[in-house]
Amino acid sequence: MSYDYDVAVVGAGPAGSMAAKNAAAGGAKVVMLEKRAEIGVPIRCGEGLDKRSVVKIGLTPNKKWIAHEVKGARIFAPDGSHLELTEEMAGNEVGYIIKRDIFDKELAKDAIRAGTNIMIKTSAIDVIKKDGYIKGIKARHFNKVFDINAKIVIGADGFESQVGRWAGIDTKVKPKDVYSCLQYDMIGIDVSPDFSEFHLGTCAPGGYAWVFPKGEHRANVGLGLAVNKIKEKGDPKRYLDRFVENHDYLKKGTPIAHIAGAVSVCAPIEKTVDNGIMLVGDAARQIDPMTGGGITNGCVAGQMAGEVAAEAVKAKNYSAEFLSRYEKAWRADFEDKSYMNWMAKEKLTQLTDDTLNKLIHAISDVKVEKIRIIDLLHAVREKYPELVKEFEEFL
Ligand code: FAD
Repeated sequence: MSYDYDVAVVGAGPAGSMAAKNAAAGGAKVVMLEKRAEIGVPIRCGEGLDKRSVVKIGLTPNKKWIAHEVKGARIFAPDGSHLELTEEMAGNEVGYIIKRDIFDKELAKDAIRAGTNIMIKTSAIDVIKKDGYIKGIKARHFNKVFDINAKIVIGADGFESQVGRWAGIDTKVKPKDVYSCLQYDMIGIDVSPDFSEFHLGTCAPGGYAWVFPKGEHRANVGLGLAVNKIKEKGDPKRYLDRFVENHDYLKKGTPIAHIAGAVSVCAPIEKTVDNGIMLVGDAARQIDPMTGGGITNGCVAGQMAGEVAAEAVKAKNYSAEFLSRYEKAWRADFEDKSYMNWMAKEKLTQLTDDTLNKLIHAISDVKVEKIRIIDLLHAVREKYPELVKEFEEFL
């Protein structure tokens, strides 16, 4: 048994659905494969999304998938002091706390409305290669294995992506550039409903801890640890339990769900296209390395890849050269910012708790108006010049 499509998208996360929708809307015959039994489930996300990103990816805010709205973010130093940022000043995870399971389904529905055929419980198990081109996907649905012939494959298969590797694209990430995350959906806590919280320092070595309120007395409480800082299996749970225990407003709560997962927080990778193939979202390591938030960049890149796929089908040209229009587009949009944020993350995660305390104190004193690293460093230079010597290159 085999199927014939113009475009085969692997993975029905936000990046895949945006790619499928835009390829289908551009006139291509599109199929999207999803290995899970239900799109968006289980949730592996803190569910933070900023409001400008929603506009950028062309969505209309909808109560169906918005659980809660916050006014801003609080950045906590290890000593408990904090800096308060308005929603516009904070990063790409602050504004809405969404219902990721519903959000993902809504994006998939948009893809279906544009003409995409979705196959759930269907795993890609390899790519089909011929004459130096990727020509489709080998897929499995229960015990049936079959070929999906496609002129273009879009790998949107998330952090654990295999499509890129099968196609020979290097998507490997160093352990220091991967956060191993654990999150509790907690009920019965006294969290401020107006602010998403980010906690820096040794509470989460190499990463950070977060509290994203989902309404009164409920929040996603989680952390990401850099994998090279993990000494023993179970460290993410030990650190998260300790974080909860150390905060009176959290320790009275009860988790109703545990969510584990990983995110890449690396610099942009070298290559995301080849003959007959494009990678998008986490599969292309497009997560913001500073926040670990990947919904926005995944959707933006998905949209671009879908548009380029439709153009390629019209032009009957599936070469890496033609598909590099996608690579140029996403790099023009967010590569520089991702690279800067990666460098900033590299520096910030090396700081001691004492230095972080000083940093937060300095910034709260001078009321920096943006969280951009450059503004942050100028502020610190005023008060603790000795702290910024190693950041001179940014200044
Ligand atoms: P995914 O959403 O991972 O989708 C990939 C899809 O591909 C999955 O449905 C998977 O089942 C499917 N798939 C995989 N392999 C195959 C295969 N072989 N065949 C068929 N289907 C396959 N980002 C934010 O913006 N805000 C946050 O608050 C946030 N918090 C996070 C908290 C945690 C604990 C974690 C782990 C991540 C968090 N992220 C957050 C990151 C965010 O979840 C991802 O960046 C986002 O989901 C990327 O979308 P995607 O479509 O690229 O991949």
